[in-house]
Amino acid sequence: MTAGGAGGAGGAAGVAGAGAGVAGVVGGGVGGTRGMVGAVGAVGAVRHDLPEVDDFTRPYWDAAAQGRLLLRRCGDCGRAHHYPREFCPHCWAGEDRVAWEPASGLATLYTWSVIHRNDLPPFGTRVPYTAAVVDLAEGPRMMTEVVDCEAADLRIGMALTVTFREAADGVWVAGFRPGQGQSSSRTQEPPAARR
Ligand SMILES: [Zn+2]
Repeated sequence: MTAGGAGGAGGAAGVAGAGAGVAGVVGGGVGGTRGMVGAVGAVGAVRHDLPEVDDFTRPYWDAAAQGRLLLRRCGDCGRAHHYPREFCPHCWAGEDRVAWEPASGLATLYTWSVIHRNDLPPFGTRVPYTAAVVDLAEGPRMMTEVVDCEAADLRIGMALTVTFREAADGVWVAGFRPGQGQSSSRTQEPPAARR
């Protein structure tokens, strides 16, 4: 697959609809933000980048607010997955066999698309941005965003580290920036502990 080849315009729209990185992906997995697309029209009233947190996904979002990325791992087949699901998508082991675990936050870039136009609020205020799919060190492939990197510097396979952005009050969304093993950048400072 070539750079930016995640379906071209379709991929871009899919990323947009799926939300700014994992927000919509996680939400979508539990019937989240995609369902809000039809509500466009109430100018400024609808946002398409925020998750609908429920009891199952709350640990993920609580951890994100603390600057930590969580994965789900199956105790039967041993494989991790993302976005989070109650059951293992690899071997279908039940929810009693799948648990949360902290991810390393390390990933490599699989593909991306630089978004120059997105009519879904609030993405229009953020263009251009880089929607991306990354391969987490633990194995799962994650839809997200690459930040702090010029489009011309993006490379397939480049090393990335998770970083968190406050999309709304108390809602922190994972993105990735170039480099691995470095300390926090300004965009990933989590708020004061909210335990
Ligand atoms: Zn499994």
